[in-house]
Amino acid sequence: MPAVPILRQLTTCSDPSTIVITHRSRAADRPLDYRLEICHRHRWLLGKRWPGRRSSESAGGRCGAVLDFRPFETVLKSHQSNWLGLLTADSGSSTVPRSHALAAALHEEVQWLLDCKRKPTGVTVALHHAAAIAEATASGVLPLAEGQRQLLNALSVAETLDAASRGA
Ligand SMILES: [Zn+2]
Repeated sequence: MPAVPILRQLTTCSDPSTIVITHRSRAADRPLDYRLEICHRHRWLLGKRWPGRRSSESAGGRCGAVLDFRPFETVLKSHQSNWLGLLTADSGSSTVPRSHALAAALHEEVQWLLDCKRKPTGVTVALHHAAAIAEATASGVLPLAEGQRQLLNALSVAETLDAASRGA
């Protein structure tokens, strides 16, 4: 079965993209790891986080839009190291906690954010939802594949809200 991408949105910018980054995959089930579009103004966001081939040929789509074809664990790690870890000043551990541990870790992130910011924000609400999904998946209420899909969608929303709160 071909890989189904997760949609992510790294900015809330309405400018058309000027650069398209494609990262080819070595995996048999997918030609690409991801495809990312970014505008001239936001290209600094890429840093070293999104390596790949840069081209302007098929640019002009939405700035910040990512089609992420990578497996669940890799996308989760990408959230952790690209924005979630920075948000909670996490040391950026490369291990992804599993099942109940993942839910607990997300709850911990939410609690940390609430302690800092005092009142719930869009980011904390979206992370609360992600933690609830992780719990439901761990306890078998949601089948694994469906739970993972819903979790990545919730993290996509949190990621975009975080970008908006940073003015990106
Ligand atoms: Zn932009």
